Amino acid sequence: MATLNVLVAVCLAYVALLFGVAFMAERAALRGRVKWLRSPVVYTLSLSIYCTAWTFYGAVGYAARSGLEYLTIYIGPTLIMVGWWWVLRKMVRVGRAQRVTSIADLISSRYGKSTILAILVTTMAVAGTTPYIALQLQSVTLSFAAFAGTTEIAGVGNSRWTALWVAVGLTLFTILFGTRNLDANERHHGVVMAIALEAVVKLFALLAVGVFVVWGMSGGVGAMLEQIDASDIGSWQMQGGRWAGLIFLSAAAFLTLPRMFQVLVVENENEDHLRLASWAFPTYLMLMSLFVVPIAVVGLARLPQGANPDLFVLTVPLSQGQTGLAMLSFLGGFSSATSMVIVAAIALSTMVSNHIVMPIWLRVAYGGAKMSGDVRNLVLFSRRVAIAVVVLMGYIYYRFSGGGAALAAIGLVSFAGVAQFLPAMLGGLFWRGATRTGAIMGLITGFAVWTWSMLLPSFGTGEILSPQVFEAGPWGLGWLRPHALFGIDGLDPLVHAILWSMSLNTLVFVAVSLGSFPSPLERLQGAQFVDVFLHSARPQSWSGGVAQSEDLLIMAQRILGPIEAQALFRRAASKQGLVGYLPEPVPDFLNELERELSGSVGAATAHAMVGQIVGGASVSVKDLMAVADETAQMMEYSSQLEIKSEELTRTARQLREANEKLTALSVQKDAFLSQISHELRTPMTSIRAFSEILRDTDGLRSAEKAKYASIIHDEAVRLTRLLDDLLDLSVLESGQVNMNMRRGTLKDILDHAMAAAGGGKALPVQRNRENEHIGLWTDLDRLAQVFINLIANAQKYCDASQPELRILVKPGQAGGIDVDFVDNGSGIPHDRQEMVFEKFARVSDQGAGGAGLGLAICREIMVRLGGRITYLPGQGGGAFRVSLPGEALTTSA
Ligand code: ADP
Repeated sequence: MATLNVLVAVCLAYVALLFGVAFMAERAALRGRVKWLRSPVVYTLSLSIYCTAWTFYGAVGYAARSGLEYLTIYIGPTLIMVGWWWVLRKMVRVGRAQRVTSIADLISSRYGKSTILAILVTTMAVAGTTPYIALQLQSVTLSFAAFAGTTEIAGVGNSRWTALWVAVGLTLFTILFGTRNLDANERHHGVVMAIALEAVVKLFALLAVGVFVVWGMSGGVGAMLEQIDASDIGSWQMQGGRWAGLIFLSAAAFLTLPRMFQVLVVENENEDHLRLASWAFPTYLMLMSLFVVPIAVVGLARLPQGANPDLFVLTVPLSQGQTGLAMLSFLGGFSSATSMVIVAAIALSTMVSNHIVMPIWLRVAYGGAKMSGDVRNLVLFSRRVAIAVVVLMGYIYYRFSGGGAALAAIGLVSFAGVAQFLPAMLGGLFWRGATRTGAIMGLITGFAVWTWSMLLPSFGTGEILSPQVFEAGPWGLGWLRPHALFGIDGLDPLVHAILWSMSLNTLVFVAVSLGSFPSPLERLQGAQFVDVFLHSARPQSWSGGVAQSEDLLIMAQRILGPIEAQALFRRAASKQGLVGYLPEPVPDFLNELERELSGSVGAATAHAMVGQIVGGASVSVKDLMAVADETAQMMEYSSQLEIKSEELTRTARQLREANEKLTALSVQKDAFLSQISHELRTPMTSIRAFSEILRDTDGLRSAEKAKYASIIHDEAVRLTRLLDDLLDLSVLESGQVNMNMRRGTLKDILDHAMAAAGGGKALPVQRNRENEHIGLWTDLDRLAQVFINLIANAQKYCDASQPELRILVKPGQAGGIDVDFVDNGSGIPHDRQEMVFEKFARVSDQGAGGAGLGLAICREIMVRLGGRITYLPGQGGGAFRVSLPGEALTTSA
């Protein structure tokens, strides 16, 4: 118990030291002594938060279980630092140029400042990090318990409190040094200094334990090597798939873990610090991994069966009575755990407050107002709350997961989760074609596959997913088995999950990006990210007002067109009392310009474009021009499309009308044919019947024979007439008829018509022959045909007891004349007056009637002669008016 008290005292002293260092660093920063604080060495040491308690304790456990596989966790970042430093350099450059505050910020800014992406990445980061924080709390608790000599089970009551105290302490420290001030660059001098110190402590502690194990316990390097050879680890076999998968995973996580992003990019003071880090950090990792195998081998050999290998770093010195060394080791583990939690909490709280809390708050409370003093306090407050919540969530996870699973497993699940950011991030940095939709869809896909094939199974079979799901898939869908997606069986579960989540993520990201169209803001951001070295290296070229105005004018011309843009600029210049085209870029003018531009490219783009030129941000004029050109092209293209589509609509309408006409014609044709066959059949039938009687009946009387023969004759005449009429009509309708224009008088034609129609014997005709001395130039026979038809109709249909027909000649419209044929019969009912001019139209089925073609022929003829025929209602009987045009009249009668 005495040692335990000493441990608590040492621990508190150490914490006090950390507070002191952080405090001094903040003070020094305030006095402007940043240079010393931010040396490349400090930067390199701060990267060591990669080595958490998982690495400090867990690596030995990992080695004890799976041999040299633990090395992959160090090889990944080493490869990045050595071979991929140019990726890091680009990340750092973009981070500085864009004032990126977190990985969520980086991804969302790249894709047009997308809020959805920011929220998505933040949520995923929190989900992926919470188990990791739990892991740190667990390791501190376990090591504390081990030190106290209590068994893990007996220590549960205590360890719960230990974890809680650690959580509270960490929260306080993080709030104190992580949210002292709102720094636009999000740099935390105190915190970085403290974790640099912790980096030294943990390396020193691990090396000390290693030296003790090799030289103090095993008798030197040679003996140690022999002992390793003899152990299980010596006969370890490498599994290629897992090896490659793990190296990839740790490399990806090194770039995408929120806390790594924080120290690598956000806290980076100077790009050149990467130079030292590129070799010094791999060296640090190598030293951290140097004694892992010896400690594992000795632990396995010397400690009793069943001892937790995750604690060998602590328990091996303890077992040798080396309390001081064990305390150092405890402090090393403590440092690893705390530095991770602190930086992770800062990184996550920045994301949560910037991308979730503040947008909601601003929308609800301020209606989108700009940041004011009040809001500043609010941001700090929300960060503090977010830190507390993040650590609390880790604690809750620790309490409820029971802390049973091996440390290494949780770490890998977390790594694979955040590795899903990689495609969207690298794509955003190196590929201009990457789009927001692509990034969103890729992330969702990757995260879904990760959850299904890695996160949920990690709780253990039967915990969240039942054994059935592993055997046969959910709802019996075999291809959805978490460890054999799409039916590919037999892979190591870890390799399987990485393979599917990363490849589907990348595939969806690329495919959707190719298939979607970026917004102007996305293009602008994309250009700045991908070509960051072009832009940010160049000194600002437009600092003077005139130079800015010139750039603005060039840009405006491309969007508005030269004439309009120049007019706008000249107006603004003369308003300012200047001559020429270049006004001072004062706010009034800029607002006006923005309004003008937004009509063409949308408000957001206009604002961004003007802001970029005037604000002198790191975008090149060339980029703006490219965007403006693209916009102009797009507008041109869309107006062409509009014209095309109008044309198409017109054509479609014409086609539709033609089609309707054709359909109507075809209906008419069918009706016509059926009418004709009907009309032909009636006379034919009687001709046939009577001719058969004549042929087959013997002894017919001659009177009968004559009667039948005359019927046959009459019917044949009727048939001929019908056919004549039809022919006539079709010739007239087809327009292939030539009018035989001749000179004549109306009187002659009427006389001729009356004679032809039967001379008025059956029907008295009243005429005013005086009026009929009118000279005509027309087809006399055709006009007579019309008159004959009308007179014959009156004869046929006038049903008065004393029928009579009046023919009246009157001056007509436009210098023409009207010839009215009015009888005293009952006429044609109102609703059929239009219809009688149609083919086969008959008012009633009178026996004497014809086929209903007469008036139709009359109408056709009158149309050819340039006049018309109409029914005259309200004349007390059947009344038709034939109108002849002025051109048909000649002066000489
Ligand atoms: P049709 O060959 O049957 O005479 P028309 O086209 O000349 O055919 O006339 C069409 C129909 O108009 C006739 O069937 C008849 O019913 C009606 N009609 C024509 N003229 C008169 C009239 N003067 N009085 C009453 N009905 C008439």
